[in-house]
Amino acid sequence: MTTDGPTCVACGRSQKEIPLLSLSFRNATYWICPQHLPVLIHNPQLLVGKLPGAEGMAPAEHED
Ligand SMILES: [Zn+2]
Repeated sequence: MTTDGPTCVACGRSQKEIPLLSLSFRNATYWICPQHLPVLIHNPQLLVGKLPGAEGMAPAEHED
């Protein structure tokens, strides 16, 4: 992990490499790249250990 600015919680890439979206969660700010936004929505359990509190998130219901 580098310390120069925000990085994606899933892949660790910085905003120098990819656009990052900010998340507000439990009074903290996290960042995620567009590539991993679907993970946050549909498979938040995959972010356990990366995003504190992810273990309490339920996947969005989605039919496709
Ligand atoms: Zn990412």
